[in-house]
Amino acid sequence: MRYISTRGGMAPQAFSDILLGGLAPDGGLSIPETYPQFDLAQLQALAGLNYRDLAFAVISRFVDDIPAADLKALIDKTYTPAVYCNGRSKAQSEHITPLIKLDNTLFIQELSNGPTLAFKDMAMQLLGNLFEYVLNQRGEQVNIVGATSGDTGSAAEYAMRGKHGVNVFMLSPYGKMSPFQRAQMFSLQDANIFNLSVKGFFDACQDIVKAINNDAAFKAQYKIGAVNSINWGRIVAQVVYYFKGYFSAAKTVGDPVDFVVPSGNFGNICAGHIARQMGLPIRRLIVATNENDVLDEFFKTGGYFPRGVDKTYETTSPSMDISKASNLERFVFDLVGRDSNKLAELWRSVDKGEGFKLSESEFALLHDTYGFRSEASTHADRIASIREVFDKYGVQIDPHTADGYKAAKAHRDSNVVTVIMETALPAKFEDTMREALGINPARPAGLAGLEQLPQRFDALEADAEAIKAYLRERIAV
Ligand SMILES: *Cc1c(COP(=O)(O)O)cnc(C)c1O
Repeated sequence: MRYISTRGGMAPQAFSDILLGGLAPDGGLSIPETYPQFDLAQLQALAGLNYRDLAFAVISRFVDDIPAADLKALIDKTYTPAVYCNGRSKAQSEHITPLIKLDNTLFIQELSNGPTLAFKDMAMQLLGNLFEYVLNQRGEQVNIVGATSGDTGSAAEYAMRGKHGVNVFMLSPYGKMSPFQRAQMFSLQDANIFNLSVKGFFDACQDIVKAINNDAAFKAQYKIGAVNSINWGRIVAQVVYYFKGYFSAAKTVGDPVDFVVPSGNFGNICAGHIARQMGLPIRRLIVATNENDVLDEFFKTGGYFPRGVDKTYETTSPSMDISKASNLERFVFDLVGRDSNKLAELWRSVDKGEGFKLSESEFALLHDTYGFRSEASTHADRIASIREVFDKYGVQIDPHTADGYKAAKAHRDSNVVTVIMETALPAKFEDTMREALGINPARPAGLAGLEQLPQRFDALEADAEAIKAYLRERIAV
């Protein structure tokens, strides 16, 4: 299995080579030359596997430069009931991503039982172990520099804490995260984790990370890396839980199942698209957005017109406040028949800030062949969905999953099983949960009093040079 760039300008590479890189040298995203295939008999053989064995069966088809025994060991130490326990018993946690049944054909797949209570732990925990392994093999180190407004940064820190060869420098906007999110990150005492609290908004943090990455000499000297949502290792790890969710929900292997996915950067649902391309009988992939509805517009009209930060709104499902969905490029590459010239042309207009509109035939493909649908939600929808799911089913869902619930209602066909991907636990979003239900959401055992733990961070000015000076002092070269 070799990897190429969506824009056609990269010689084929092995998995370990693209794992540590970000964008391909031509500005595109890495993607496998072909998708591994599973036929019905092979799917039937996978259906009874536990999460770890299923993960190995799927991921090993994408990786041929890590010995199978080593890959298996990395997967086995990642997907354990102890890591994905959410304060519950071992027996309850053994399924890693269990389903919650709402009615006979409507389910929620739990993806948020990892240490930071969001689905990003599903991929990031494996990435931490893969990074450590590959760096150790090569005798190299990497310094991950990232910007976060909450979920990504904490998932990266919990995945990389204590890992050899890896430091994490995470920029976050000073005073802008929820007390819970801040406590999650800043209470980590590991020597390889650095929290940089930047006096500015999230955009300022992102701009600083961009400036550091644009300084090629600095980037090379200080071995700067990233674990953002375009990372292929994250996508491949996410493919697994679509298989798991499918086997848990389908009455018979081969039956169609619809998945509904709260989306921002199109990373989670991109993995669903890949699972479908591999032969998993997914009928529809339903994209759920909030008021930042660039993706809803794309899947309803075929027009992809990313918006600037001035047109990106702060909402109560904040991890989806994104107006440029970086992983969409991977799906559109398939949609245009893997024609990298065509793709590069479309993304030239995206990079210029213009965007593009699909032809009628391409739009028909998106809808009919690739099975995509979409729906957007407002704050009022979110509150109504949280209330409805609690009143009707006695289940508390977080505001992002609530956006998924509305999209599921808009598109479901009660003859087909629908699985809504849970992307975070309600405990992370206490204000919105109180507004909807009038009570504080349950918090997993072990996280009570999180906000009272000692916090470790450095407050810095929003200035790229000041941040670079900070990095120089702490990175041994
Ligand atoms: C990151 C995140 C999303 C969006 O996921 P993408 O892969 O960027 O589409 C949705 N919900 C929550 C809670 C998240 O943390």
